[in-house]
Amino acid sequence: MKTNTSLLIEHADLLVTMDAERREIRDGALVTDGPAIVWVGATADVPAGLRAAADQVIDARGRIVLPGFVNTHHHFYQTLTRVIPAAQDAVLFDWLKTLYPIWAELTPDAVFVSTQLALTELLLSGCTTSSDHHYLWPNGSRLDDQFAAAATIGVRFHGARGSMSLGESQGGLPPDRVTEDEAAILHDSRRVVETFHDPDRFAMRRVVLAPCSPFSVTPALMRESAALARSFGAQMNVHLHTHLAETQDEEAFCLARFGYRPGDYAEFLEWTGDDVWHAHCVHLNPREVAHFARTHTGVAHCPTSNMRLASGIAPVRAMRDAGVPVGLGVDGSASNDGSHLLNEVRQTLLLQRVMGNPRAMTAREALELATLGGAAVLGRDDIGALAPGMAADLVAFRLDTLWHAGGAVHDPVAALVFCQPQPVDWAIINGRRLVQDGAPLHVDIPHLVERHNRAAVALVQRAGAR
Ligand code: ZN
Repeated sequence: MKTNTSLLIEHADLLVTMDAERREIRDGALVTDGPAIVWVGATADVPAGLRAAADQVIDARGRIVLPGFVNTHHHFYQTLTRVIPAAQDAVLFDWLKTLYPIWAELTPDAVFVSTQLALTELLLSGCTTSSDHHYLWPNGSRLDDQFAAAATIGVRFHGARGSMSLGESQGGLPPDRVTEDEAAILHDSRRVVETFHDPDRFAMRRVVLAPCSPFSVTPALMRESAALARSFGAQMNVHLHTHLAETQDEEAFCLARFGYRPGDYAEFLEWTGDDVWHAHCVHLNPREVAHFARTHTGVAHCPTSNMRLASGIAPVRAMRDAGVPVGLGVDGSASNDGSHLLNEVRQTLLLQRVMGNPRAMTAREALELATLGGAAVLGRDDIGALAPGMAADLVAFRLDTLWHAGGAVHDPVAALVFCQPQPVDWAIINGRRLVQDGAPLHVDIPHLVERHNRAAVALVQRAGAR
């Protein structure tokens, strides 16, 4: 008896494969079997045997179908603290100092509900794999809460066990009470890798080790976290992630405290290599970019957040030209108050052009960053493209809408990026249908929003009562 569900998706106006030839197939079709794609081509060419064996047929007329997007940087818990008035108009260090005392009141329930909310928001924006960088663990909250929440939504999840150990009393930025003891951080990091990390193809759960930033952890913790991740061996593929070169304040901090620019500091710590990706990298110089390219060190580009906090414009064109792997991230919801990954694709295109070069980023390259780019940065070769043997992670957007009228008829791929970003019509992850007719099948959104809003209000009230 057949145990895997097989889906036949046919008659897509355009199927954007992101395969080795970057094929864009008109009247496209695709067949899945369990978690994998088994066939991609034109609807007229679907083999009769596969058609006959399909359990469900999905008519994709009027839609563009793409590989699901990959989000490479976020802080899900920050959905609870969007647009906090005192942090609306601040640069990074002031913004953090305003928010740390509120985040100190996080609870396991708040972590759980914010993870559900952010993943639902991402899913509806076309994201099928997301990492999350969570770096403060007050009141008994654990990475376990995030993995439990992610399982209820069904998005492929790379949980980054973040950490902070350099408090104010030692010259760091965060208040001491949101930092952890370094031995405890390393002990818990090992525990979560051993408990949750799945190195296999089509894995739904991976763990990343992720000390927060140069101004909130010590060099010793950076080195020991890297040594721990690498001690599991190349087959386990445990990646490393942190914030780097986000602002000029951070550059000044690194020079004053460590005697290095941020990019050189990463090299000094051996935080370069194809198992490392850094968020932001707005202030890398050409020499540092060349070093990242040589070592295949990845970057999560977060354009909206960089604009929101007035951090600057990351040299994405230069990084791509040099060969640095670049993925996209929406970043935390307190510095980009939306988790809409397709919108981040659009922001990437616009921000690279703003200094005067209209060819600095095309729609197709921006989509490549969101798919293949993100997959490479997370160390995965089973997502980011639609081809036989790849994970069945795909999304469809309607093109017959008000928002795309007069555009999709000329170039559907460009219309998706240039026109006002819309939510997906449907999404499939690991061969499972999770969104249909624009609505998630397994999430009660009004109920989720109500629980989330209650948690957000309670969080700020607890902080105010201190
Ligand atoms: Zn961040």
